[in-house]
Amino acid sequence: MQFTKSIEAFKKAQEIIPGGVNSPVRAFKSVKLNPVFISKAKGAYITDIDGNQYIDFVASWGPLIFGHAHEAILTAINEAAVKGTSYGAPTEYETEMAELIVSMVPSIEKVRMVNSGTEATMSAIRLARGYTKRECILKFAGNYHGHGDSFLIKAGSGAITLGLPDSPGVTSSTAKDTLIAEYNNLDSVRTLFQEKGNQIAAIIVEAVAGNMGVVVPTKGFLQGLRDIATEYGALLIFDEVITGFRLAKGGAQELYNVMPDITTLGKIIGGGLPVGAYGGKKEIMDMLAPIGPVYQAGTLSGNPLAMSAGIAMLKLIRDTPDFHAELERKAAMLEAGIYRNMEITGVKGLINRVGSMMTFFFTNETQITTYDEAMKSDADKYARFFKMSLESGIYLAPSQYECLFVSYAHTDKDIETIIAANLLALKNL
Ligand SMILES: *Cc1c(COP(=O)(O)O)cnc(C)c1O
Repeated sequence: MQFTKSIEAFKKAQEIIPGGVNSPVRAFKSVKLNPVFISKAKGAYITDIDGNQYIDFVASWGPLIFGHAHEAILTAINEAAVKGTSYGAPTEYETEMAELIVSMVPSIEKVRMVNSGTEATMSAIRLARGYTKRECILKFAGNYHGHGDSFLIKAGSGAITLGLPDSPGVTSSTAKDTLIAEYNNLDSVRTLFQEKGNQIAAIIVEAVAGNMGVVVPTKGFLQGLRDIATEYGALLIFDEVITGFRLAKGGAQELYNVMPDITTLGKIIGGGLPVGAYGGKKEIMDMLAPIGPVYQAGTLSGNPLAMSAGIAMLKLIRDTPDFHAELERKAAMLEAGIYRNMEITGVKGLINRVGSMMTFFFTNETQITTYDEAMKSDADKYARFFKMSLESGIYLAPSQYECLFVSYAHTDKDIETIIAANLLALKNL
């Protein structure tokens, strides 16, 4: 494979864009490669500017659960675009979108649209603080909730400590209000609540973690969070930016049957356009301006093109028979194939998977249920594996700590192709 044009394009971009990219992980830094620049994509396939074609398992980091450039979504965008791209005034699209969300996500009674997952989580914790009149939030090491200041904090060495800022520019006073617990460790949550329970506005959690690689909630973990939050009068926020509509029509809360007070959504909900949302109980959502005192706004929020794409996406998910069962079948086929390849080659690793989201960890661990366990993975081995996969036409996330997403556009043949490429890569590792 030739990457000449991508190398040239990256040089040019780096001169005028910090790091050459508008979101850090795109730079391929952790796999020590030159990123490929994309020219187009259709269905399960993505093509770079050198003309190399790949089977895409990144899916724009999750949104494209029907693959790229799906006809129904393109039609919806086109039909909306000719009527104007933005009005800054209410439209019926927004009500239709809200109706779809409320009908699909069990715990949401009212919902507010925003423009990204980051905006959704930032707004959700402001709302939780306004509603409870408390200042602290509790999050988990290794959980990502976008780049809001309060979230860019994790525990040093995964211990149960008060957070230190992870990024320069986050103030120590912000860090002080963010408490860090360990994922899948209810005792770490209880300890913090025993100490500061009357100051904690909300627990925010990735119901299935996807940003330290996939880490599955252990039995009773989510229900335990629900119980602790209720006991102390704190709100429970499920960040379903990845899991929403992916794991079930109603997301992880439907799959695990645990109901949060507020849910944050993003990625799939925009059908590939920039959209986020947060919703929950009426009583809580009605704290928002203009009827309540908690302020949150957006010039382009509820944008007609974005709503049209999202509505088309949610209708596809709602109306496609056996949609999630089919994703499960394909993803299980891929998981089984990779395990078979590991047996054949003797390469050590494990796969964490829920439905169509999975991570293949290069590790000697027998389980990965926490951030510390995830961090013991061999990122260098992943980098070599990534390069070989890329060169054999498989586009994976350029980091050990991300998800692989199976989409409805992947055929059984695509899955067989990635399993075969995976075997070769593991043999040559
Ligand atoms: C991607 C992601 C976000 C942030 O969404 P953006 O649209 O990138 O701002 C928040 N939470 C989770 C769980 C995510 O995966």
